[in-house]
Amino acid sequence: MRVSRLMLVTLRDDPAEAEITSHKLLLRAGYMRRLAPGIFAYLPLLWRVLQKVSAIVREEMAAIDALETLLPQLQPAELWRRSGRWDGYTAGEGIMFHLVDRQDRSLGLGPTHEEVVTELAADLLRSYRQLPVCLYQIQTKFRDEIRPRFGLMRGREFIMKDAYSFHADEACLRRTYAAMDGAYRRIFERCGLRAVAVEADSGAIGGSASQEFMVTAEAGEDLILASPDGRYAANQERAVSLPAVPVPMEAGACRSLATPAQKSIEELCSAHGFDPTQTLKVLLLLARFAAAPPRGVLVCLRGDQQLNDVKLANAVTARCPDAGALLEIVPLLADHLWDPVPFGFLGPHLEDQALRQGEKRPAAAAPLLRLADPSAADLEAFVCGANRVDEHLVGARWGELCPVPEVVDLRSAQPGDRCLHDPSQRLEAARGIEVGHIFQLGRKYSEALEARFTNEAGSEEPLWMGCYGIGVSRLAQAAVEQHHDADGIRWPVAIAPYTVIIVIASSQDPVQVALAEELYERLRTGGCDVLLDDRPERAGVKFKDADLIGIPWRLVVGRAAGQRTVELVDRSGDTGKRELGADAALDHLLGLPGASP
Ligand code: ATP
Ligand code: MG
Repeated sequence: MRVSRLMLVTLRDDPAEAEITSHKLLLRAGYMRRLAPGIFAYLPLLWRVLQKVSAIVREEMAAIDALETLLPQLQPAELWRRSGRWDGYTAGEGIMFHLVDRQDRSLGLGPTHEEVVTELAADLLRSYRQLPVCLYQIQTKFRDEIRPRFGLMRGREFIMKDAYSFHADEACLRRTYAAMDGAYRRIFERCGLRAVAVEADSGAIGGSASQEFMVTAEAGEDLILASPDGRYAANQERAVSLPAVPVPMEAGACRSLATPAQKSIEELCSAHGFDPTQTLKVLLLLARFAAAPPRGVLVCLRGDQQLNDVKLANAVTARCPDAGALLEIVPLLADHLWDPVPFGFLGPHLEDQALRQGEKRPAAAAPLLRLADPSAADLEAFVCGANRVDEHLVGARWGELCPVPEVVDLRSAQPGDRCLHDPSQRLEAARGIEVGHIFQLGRKYSEALEARFTNEAGSEEPLWMGCYGIGVSRLAQAAVEQHHDADGIRWPVAIAPYTVIIVIASSQDPVQVALAEELYERLRTGGCDVLLDDRPERAGVKFKDADLIGIPWRLVVGRAAGQRTVELVDRSGDTGKRELGADAALDHLLGLPGASP
């Protein structure tokens, strides 16, 4: 391709809309333009990158016998109602774009395809003889993200590879999950990415085991916690660890302590010399559901611990099975209650509360959902609020004060925590960009949507399912985040839009032009993805653009063209610059992996 025909518009300055390097570079180098928040036009250079990533994905999917397909993006609400996800995906913080058609039927624009593919499976897969089956597609997904940002990292319209597998039993599901894990590792490696696999939360998708693939980068939105020995790595949303050993309380009966205006753990500890590990943090929250009235939630943590919102949402969802989708959990405020509550001085023995939900006070208080993290439940004696303003209790004990609430892991693991598998190991933090996520779904969707098959014994049962996603457009930008320098992008060769750019130093010089045209033609016919910068610009401008757009090899045809000598520049910096004969340069470039058909 000739650069003069490429519609290439590069920007000298960083665009105001971009915060992270990869986003700035993709805009500056003419890879994309923003149409609206989270909605981008993929310009021809970026489209080539996306096609190269997709080609690698297709090869690796074919290698594990996954079949490519293309599923509808317009999806009937009725299907999502049957799986129980319509409300959760459309109300509250739901991310599904949805609309009503001219027949007054509700539809959603696919944020993911479990429902559609399970419906197909229910129709087509009837016998164990047809199993296992794995389908995948590479397609635009729509998600009305609350905070679209960082360009392709969190778009509202983006490209995903999503795969779905169906099995007669769990062992077979596990085998495909393991095969996908291998395929994913090969895909990221072939794309030139350093990615790590981490244990992940299964989120709104549901199911049991799940693993994310993270491209490690400072700009990543996810926090990864990993042990130095490499045996444990998890997303912080899901990570577990041993909390610090608490400082024991001195023995003694429970007593009351005046704590005027000491509402926070820090204020309390600094005023009375307690250690935060001796205190109980009591949080009062309100959970809202799609199909049930809100519910008050009382959470106990040890004072030095932080609440993990994802773990809490999972715990609440599991304990309210008939409430429909969990829409949000917010701090419970005085306005939500009929009676005043001594916020800042709460103890776990707080009584159930009457929630305000209309004009009339309900006849009875609604039971609080009471949960305690093990770090709190394991304390023998502790300091907690007295449920009276300006007063705490010292030396309170479970059983004497109130029963221990239901114990469930709710704390956020932190860097520096001791690891469960080996307490001498301490968790280290790294930031990551989630580029892939694989799940063992089990039978959640096949049960809800009645996708059943006849097993070998002749009886009917729901299909076992897995699902597997790769953010293709996010991956492309993650590659830039990992591979760039002060001058611009440095694409890994396998996903670079073009492998070589020939720059004619002076387009006025017919000798240079002739040699460049010859090399261009020979590289093209040799199967190399090559650009020819034939623009009537100064050499410096063309060099800058070549660096910015990040083509792995630059072949400069300049003053020495008469001697058929050219300059070859390795954008990765590994081999630097060298002068060599035109034919030797051609041999080198045509010998690169993937250069010829
Ligand atoms: P996140 O936690 O980042 O919101 P997710 O867990 O909701 O992502 P999945 O449903 O697992 O995402 O989707 C599969 C893959 O699609 C993700 O691993 C990610 O690479 C990509 N992806 C998800 N949301 C977006 C988005 N808004 N923009 C670009 N890529 C995305
Ligand atoms: Mg995910």
